[in-house]
Amino acid sequence: MQPRRPEYPSASGLGDSLSIMREHTILPVFFPFQSDQQIAAVFQTIKSAQIGSIKYRLGLLTGRFGAEHPLKACIACMSHDQTSHGTAYWHLSHQYPGVVLCPIHGLMLRESTINRQWSGSFQWVLPSEASLAAATSPVPSATAQKALQQLGKGVLDLASCGDSRRFHPMTVRSVYKEALVQLGISEPERISASIDFAEYSSQLQPYPPLTSLPTTVQRAEAFISQLTRNPRGHCHPLKHLTLITWLFGRLDQFIEAYDRLDIDPHQQISQAKYKSNAKAVMVGATFIEKVADKKNLRKPKKIKPQIRTAILECLRNGNSKESICSKFGISICTVNRLLRSEPAVAKSRTELHRRSALLKYRAEWQATVLAHSDTTAKSIRLVIPSTYAWLYRNDQNWLLTQTHNLPSGRRGNYSNIDWHERDCKLADLVIKALSQSSKHQLNLDKKYIYRLIPALSRSLENKGYYLKTRNLLSKILQNN
Ligand SMILES: [Zn+2]
Repeated sequence: MQPRRPEYPSASGLGDSLSIMREHTILPVFFPFQSDQQIAAVFQTIKSAQIGSIKYRLGLLTGRFGAEHPLKACIACMSHDQTSHGTAYWHLSHQYPGVVLCPIHGLMLRESTINRQWSGSFQWVLPSEASLAAATSPVPSATAQKALQQLGKGVLDLASCGDSRRFHPMTVRSVYKEALVQLGISEPERISASIDFAEYSSQLQPYPPLTSLPTTVQRAEAFISQLTRNPRGHCHPLKHLTLITWLFGRLDQFIEAYDRLDIDPHQQISQAKYKSNAKAVMVGATFIEKVADKKNLRKPKKIKPQIRTAILECLRNGNSKESICSKFGISICTVNRLLRSEPAVAKSRTELHRRSALLKYRAEWQATVLAHSDTTAKSIRLVIPSTYAWLYRNDQNWLLTQTHNLPSGRRGNYSNIDWHERDCKLADLVIKALSQSSKHQLNLDKKYIYRLIPALSRSLENKGYYLKTRNLLSKILQNN
């Protein structure tokens, strides 16, 4: 009798290949920013025995976030699993690229040394301390920890909607542009935004697979401009999520902004009508909504009266449109139509959102002031520019009272700060950045150096400090 070839478990309780892919692999995180065509091809490949081309199809082999996805585990989760299940196992939530910290314990995940291209690939293995590599990345600071948690949450949220959402590249670009316009469109405002993004992205950059993220203002500008110009092909989801978490904080905020702009791809307005300045973007957004309203030829779905009342109740309570769509199985268009038909609900919803935004932004301002107790209103504004901008537009009196109570910037309680150490560090940073810069030493100017080292201008605002760095700068600039 011929021995039977081993078969993969199919309908035996683990599910078929597609449900395994959807529920037990990291693949769904790559779908929302991919084209339907590529996803269909991936599905087709999964059903066949040759799965080797999937990474190529998703652009992972040519992207800058790596195509290897090592197994990862959290030591605290392992010990918990050992106690409650008798053995440790690989958690799906730890495996996504961009999840660097355990979402439960906040500990750095450690990579497996087995099941890698160079060691025991295709080997069945469970997590054990002996097979986990020691961490090589630096222990994250509080700021880096926050940024990594924010990005990790974004990755998990994206994976959870991987099956149900597709983001059209043109609309995504418009959403980014609109959000950037909110940060200001003048030259200094745009530079300030790039500085802010470079600082955020520098927090994430030391941790693989995020090592290609920008750490200088120049690179930050190039990164932003790549994601806001005419999309050519599809970018890695981590690229989008870095920008999204910086601009919106959370993925659902991005989705809400996306749904406000989203229309059928055939109805996208032409590029000529959609200039990149504030006015055009705002006019564009209104224009898109009008086109969508006018041309929405799909027949509205009939909703039973009691369901309608329940939906309106959720809307009145301020629930997100996304959650209402999934709860009642309706489209975002239906939700928007209902909302337009009930101006009182729309009004109370707007007021609720405004109120909660007010509390959120006020709390953020106060927390930042507490965290930077020796600093000025101007420095706080640079740390949280979008919060400042929102409060300035919507809650100006409160903001003025707050800024009035802060030091003017001329004096400050600086007695606890080791200025000499800071000065030496900053001077070293300047030397290092300039030695790595591609520009010839003779062609340097002040603006270039300031853009190269985001921390510089802020530090030198402290008049009377950083003498070593000041001397160094004047020497460099004198030679030119
Ligand atoms: Zn854990």
